[in-house]
Amino acid sequence: MRIIESIAEMQQAGEGWRCEGKKIALVPTMGYLHEGHLELMRAIRSHGDVLVTSIFVNPAQFGPGEDFERYPRDLERDTRMANEAGTDIGFIPHVKEMYPEGYQTFVKVTEVTAPLCGRSRPAFFRGVATVVAKLFNIVRPHAAIFGEKDFQQLVTIRRMVQDLNMNIEIIGHPTVREADGLAMSSRNAYLTPEQRRKAVRLNRSLREAQTLVQKGEKTGEAILNKVREVLAEDDDVRIDYVQLCDPSTLQEVTRIAASTLLALAVHVGVARLIDNAILNPSA
Ligand code: AMP
Repeated sequence: MRIIESIAEMQQAGEGWRCEGKKIALVPTMGYLHEGHLELMRAIRSHGDVLVTSIFVNPAQFGPGEDFERYPRDLERDTRMANEAGTDIGFIPHVKEMYPEGYQTFVKVTEVTAPLCGRSRPAFFRGVATVVAKLFNIVRPHAAIFGEKDFQQLVTIRRMVQDLNMNIEIIGHPTVREADGLAMSSRNAYLTPEQRRKAVRLNRSLREAQTLVQKGEKTGEAILNKVREVLAEDDDVRIDYVQLCDPSTLQEVTRIAASTLLALAVHVGVARLIDNAILNPSA
């Protein structure tokens, strides 16, 4: 695996491969890689001749008081893991080159970023859309892959690509989970052993909601109450939101009439964790 840090070098390499008729696939990450990231690499491998994994903890998507400074980082381990998962190029740009002095341009996707995480993290999706647009301009990929764990992020990127006529195939990948169901996340590293045990409630609450819907429940409030009950707030567990919405517009729904996204964000200790599931009404 070749490491590229300079934007100019990455752009030159990308243009070079394009001229040779090679397809470029991109996996954008913030590093501290886990099996979820590696699955994305393996899944998109066949979509490209060259697989680029970017590792960049993007300051623009962190709000004041959030965890930018203490976000876990381990580049040595990341490069080893990315290499083993088939990455050809590790693109690891520097903050000062991505956002030099005088930087003032941002991408704002309006409607789909308003609810859910957009409510509690107002700068987040502006930062995400901006850095992904920049990565697309630098790497010039034909395809890029994003995890469904960050469902609203995936919807936002799809919207941006469509609205700004970016000729890039966006691939969504199902959430990769630990054996007990907890969605893999770099932020799980923040959990104490006791909080780690409590964190399993996130996925359990989603599964109980699915069971309820399979049994015929269609009322949103009944489903949300079940989820809140399983999450059981205590000193370590605090709900940010639990919501039902249309999976393409992310508009809130109150009845399960069609395929519906159940999304939640929960603070467990200092970690803010998100998870989601698609609920399909029983016939
Ligand atoms: P991050 O490094 O957390 O910004 O994530 C980089 C990419 O990996 C994003 O597209 C995430 O949605 C995806 N990702 C993170 N965790 C998982 C997971 N458990 N399963 C699938 N994709 C994931």
